[in-house]
Amino acid sequence: MSKLTMKITDVKTYYLRSNVVRDRADSGQDALIVVVETDAGISGLGEVDSAPLAVKGAIEGPYSHAVTAGLRSLVIGEDPFETEKIWHKMYRENIYSGRRGIAIHAMGGIDLALWDIKGKALGMPVWKLLGGGFHSKIRAYASTLFGDTPADTRERGERFVSQGFSAVKFGWGPLGQDEKLDLDLVRSAREGVGDGADLMIDAGLCYDTKTAIHRAKQFEQFRPYWFEEPLLPDNYDGYRRLCESTPLRIAAGEEESSRLSFLDLMDRGKIDIVQVDLTRCGGFTEAMKIASLAEDRALPVVNHGFTTYINIAASLHFLASISNSFILEYVVEQDTILRDEITNQDIRMIDGFVAVPDGPGLGVTLRTDALERFGIKL
Ligand SMILES: [Mg+2]
Repeated sequence: MSKLTMKITDVKTYYLRSNVVRDRADSGQDALIVVVETDAGISGLGEVDSAPLAVKGAIEGPYSHAVTAGLRSLVIGEDPFETEKIWHKMYRENIYSGRRGIAIHAMGGIDLALWDIKGKALGMPVWKLLGGGFHSKIRAYASTLFGDTPADTRERGERFVSQGFSAVKFGWGPLGQDEKLDLDLVRSAREGVGDGADLMIDAGLCYDTKTAIHRAKQFEQFRPYWFEEPLLPDNYDGYRRLCESTPLRIAAGEEESSRLSFLDLMDRGKIDIVQVDLTRCGGFTEAMKIASLAEDRALPVVNHGFTTYINIAASLHFLASISNSFILEYVVEQDTILRDEITNQDIRMIDGFVAVPDGPGLGVTLRTDALERFGIKL
């Protein structure tokens, strides 16, 4: 049988969990892995950064009726090359529960795996199939949480710049508790990275609109390159008021699933930088449309990726395939052992840049012992 006439035979999900899971904003502590199998012996790998067991249910659940069905039941028997058609089928035939959120996240995991299959079948990296080639390597920013104290935050900044990063993002942690601490944290972050590196601030949804407008004004002196998610994701009018009030670039999008939510952020919220998580937004098929909508509005697009190298690889293929990309989120949290233990490849920063994978498909494969070591039996 020609490899190009293959059919999907199964979709499997695996829940991996780090031995230590702490109460903090680090979504790399567990992972929901998706494997799509075909009758040609080629399988594809995907990941979903969401509520793992809810995603597992959305994929493995039964066919219920014409507009609610487990995604697995919808894709078995389909040709994995027909990614656009399959995306539409998953959306349309699961629309009762699937217009936003978990079902779109789950669709994204399957979509990533389908593109991995296409690349493996053709012996080409995903970025080439997407028509990319804009970058062979992408500048990376170190993505970390704020330290518990300003001194800890400063030390983190110094450490990541000394490793070769030319940009560092600090997020979540104690930000938003009181005004003086907020200013001390951001001042220390700037002192840590020095004047020569770019600084980004991720507020982690911690402000109301008026406070965010006030903080943006106060943070201007520390010259952040962007000010990320100061507001709750549905506060579109707040985003518009904030964006119109500050010269700082406002970034958002990691909470969004499907291009329609991104349209609200862009057209109603008037955000400046569009953040796309390949494992939440609906996969490559949807991410390329989001990037196109952003390009039409002259907005830059960046990735969000706090989980495994599967997400990072997918982000690199995506960013290499769009004209409006310029930097990669690269997580540097040390406690997350999953990332370094479950794939055969490490994706490393060298001299401030990360190379776009060039192997077939995503260019990332699961380690044979990953399920044994970290798999949770359900
Ligand atoms: Mg963020």
